[in-house]
Amino acid sequence: MNGELLYLNGEFLELREGRVHVEDRGFQLGDGIYEVIKVMNGRLVWLDDHLARLDRSLAAIRLGDALEDHDMGRILPDLVARAGLGDGSVYLQVTRGDAPREFPFPAAPHPTVLAYTRPRDFPLPSFITTGITLHPVEDLRWGRCDIKSTNLLAAVLVKQEAQEAGAWEALFMAPDGTVREGGSSNVFAVLGGVVRTHPLDRHILGGITRLHVLEIAHRLGIPVEERAFTLEEVRQTAAGDCEFFSASSTTDMLPVVAIGGVAVRGGRPGPVTLRLLDEMRAELAALAGREKPPALLGPP
Ligand code: PMP
Repeated sequence: MNGELLYLNGEFLELREGRVHVEDRGFQLGDGIYEVIKVMNGRLVWLDDHLARLDRSLAAIRLGDALEDHDMGRILPDLVARAGLGDGSVYLQVTRGDAPREFPFPAAPHPTVLAYTRPRDFPLPSFITTGITLHPVEDLRWGRCDIKSTNLLAAVLVKQEAQEAGAWEALFMAPDGTVREGGSSNVFAVLGGVVRTHPLDRHILGGITRLHVLEIAHRLGIPVEERAFTLEEVRQTAAGDCEFFSASSTTDMLPVVAIGGVAVRGGRPGPVTLRLLDEMRAELAALAGREKPPALLGPP
């Protein structure tokens, strides 16, 4: 096994053997939802949180009974074990299945349920120390960004644009100038020692990593405010007491050192970010049954 294996509607197959119907509504209409779960040392990280979000996404698109015959809490660990996957991720997708192409739901949908494993390298510690750069873009997505929908065209286009601009990630901005989230990540600023992030509403995805960042901050006694902020606020404090970072399942947390070509904190990851990241890396190592990695943040 090379660490890659597919579960498709009850069967385990080699990834390249998987076939989905041309009229699958996920393919034609984006009528589906997905999850990405990190795997470390063969263990699915924060699986229960991902399964809870999966249920919420399915309910939101009125496909609540799609997984009746697929117990993902058992199937996913089985898939990872069969694939012989150590470190990597699982991509899971559920669509309303195939039916003659019409917009309204088919009378008796038979959902397409699939998940596959992929071995993957995660960001190196050196990358964490260098930090990433963000490219601000207008948020042209729809009004239900809280649903983890497979309609990702807006993210595809802005992430391509970010890459072409030499940045690592796009940053979705609201028309009023507030910061929403990354192209495929949540973002946080640390302003005057307070961790700030956009509140959970229909404009952002409730990231699982976001949830754990906030939990860790509470545990460490770092003040948190789920309140939107502007790039202006970041820039006004950029030279001094300001930090910025992103969070997602496959990248954990990454310090942001420049936004739209303007350096944050002189282009160096900040101490609050590194303290949170050290704690997250310790938590992930414990979940994976591994030794705690060396701290990124030296003693004060
Ligand atoms: N926001 C968006 C738009 C995303 O696509 C993602 C990653 N799928 C996230 C946030 C981060 O979510 P998570 O921490 O659950 O990976």
